[in-house]
Amino acid sequence: MNYYENCPQCDSKRVTKMSKSLYFLIGLGSIGVCGLLGILFPPIWLGVLLGIGLMCISPFLPPMLQCQDCKKTWKYVKNKNTNVNIESPAK
Ligand SMILES: [Zn+2]
Repeated sequence: MNYYENCPQCDSKRVTKMSKSLYFLIGLGSIGVCGLLGILFPPIWLGVLLGIGLMCISPFLPPMLQCQDCKKTWKYVKNKNTNVNIESPAK
């Protein structure tokens, strides 16, 4: 059972992590849909460019958490954990 943090909106514990591949799939889907619709209405091909852009930046996007109760989505902040190794420079 993966536990991240409670939902900031409704304090639910039913929180799931949205994987980065989701962004990739959204990009891929928009390329497919916009590519087909662009045949009928060429300006929609801009959506293909957006999809390609999303696929390119997907490895750099931060992981997101989503509440299963209220569907709120927010950015996962890692540094809430205590066992993070941060080497602080000596002053
Ligand atoms: Zn919630």
